[in-house]
Amino acid sequence: MYKCAICFEPIRTNINTVGIQCERCGSKIFYKERPNVKKLVKAR
Ligand SMILES: [Zn+2]
Repeated sequence: MYKCAICFEPIRTNINTVGIQCERCGSKIFYKERPNVKKLVKAR
């Protein structure tokens, strides 16, 4: 799963497609969503 780096819209299009853009804001910057990120917000 990838998300737009600008508006965090989930990207459903194949990320390997050439010229992919965010459907909401047109951004071409994306990041790969990782389950490990949740550890950063883990509170005790
Ligand atoms: Zn976007």
